[in-house]
Amino acid sequence: MTAAVDLKNVVKRYGPVTALHGVSLAIADNEFFTLLGPSGCGKTTLLRLIAGFEDISEGEIRLFDKDIAGLEPNLRPVNTVFQHYALFPHMTVLDNVAFGLKMKGVDPVARRARAGQMLEMVHLSAFADRFPSQLSGGQQQRVALARALAPEPKVLLLDEPLSALDLKLRQAMRVELKQLQEQTGITFIFVTHDQEEALTMSDRIAVMSAGRVQQIGTARDIYEAPENRFVADFIGETNLLQVDVAAVREGRATVVLPGGKQIVCPASGTSSGRHNLSIRPERLTISDNADLMATVERVVYLGTDLQVIAHLDSGEPISLRLQNAARVSLPEPGQRIGLHLEEGGARLLAD
Ligand code: ATP
Repeated sequence: MTAAVDLKNVVKRYGPVTALHGVSLAIADNEFFTLLGPSGCGKTTLLRLIAGFEDISEGEIRLFDKDIAGLEPNLRPVNTVFQHYALFPHMTVLDNVAFGLKMKGVDPVARRARAGQMLEMVHLSAFADRFPSQLSGGQQQRVALARALAPEPKVLLLDEPLSALDLKLRQAMRVELKQLQEQTGITFIFVTHDQEEALTMSDRIAVMSAGRVQQIGTARDIYEAPENRFVADFIGETNLLQVDVAAVREGRATVVLPGGKQIVCPASGTSSGRHNLSIRPERLTISDNADLMATVERVVYLGTDLQVIAHLDSGEPISLRLQNAARVSLPEPGQRIGLHLEEGGARLLAD
């Protein structure tokens, strides 16, 4: 199958700074693909290379099997939506949306019709004659989306498009963006540092750090089977415990927990020695059938959940999440508790 975007060993240097150290990834046509990572990891640089705003230093980028080296941005079947929507303030909403079509030489009647359709798609038909300053932030962002989609790009690049919006609006826009992507069938490449945003919308996610892709997978793959410490720590919360590995065979490791109990758990390519074990807080329960012994420090009330902050007998911190069900009896600070590790709740990580 032809990839919509295929990056092979892409390196980008800015003078002495290497922003991308050989990134390879293939994004399928019609995929909602997210680049997720902390500030400075190279997400925006990657988008800018795909858009053609910058040249790559080494490697290759193919769009629908065509090498696009040297191709001007406006000749690529790609459009971008930025964090700050950059609408033209002196143009109406309709004219803003029609702008890209005008640049492409589409005649006035056809471009008004197409811009009208796009406004309908983002539920803003009633606002066609307003100016951007007469719209809310969320409405402006939807105009920016309509404007970027109007020339029918094959790939839409979205650079933190929701980060200027407040939380409620951001949550509503996530759903809308996902629907728009499904409705249009356009490949979306979405950049964010917000893991929740990435988990809720994406078909697949590439987790990046320091100019490298750390892992690519579905939300579930990345959350449940992180390959290394960075990914486990960046996606969701986790407890990282240093453990001795007794044996690794066919992707499963026998490890010795603090306190001496042995368990068998999935492993991401590690050998014997001392390594990090990742335990998700919601996979621990308070039980007499204990794998670990701990002492409670604090219980934090979070509404749907309760967070129990504790330390193991060996002194390492550990936290667990309990659902706030009616019958949950809360442990008290100072109380000694047994912790049971649910099947599949721990994973041994490569470093
Ligand atoms: P953010 O979420 O903060 O936007 P990012 O993951 O998008 O971060 P990039 O903007 O791609 O990160 O930057 C990656 C690295 O490249 C950073 O170390 C940055 O300082 C560097 N960099 C980016 N653009 C330039 C430039 N024009 N000149 C020199 N260094 C640059």
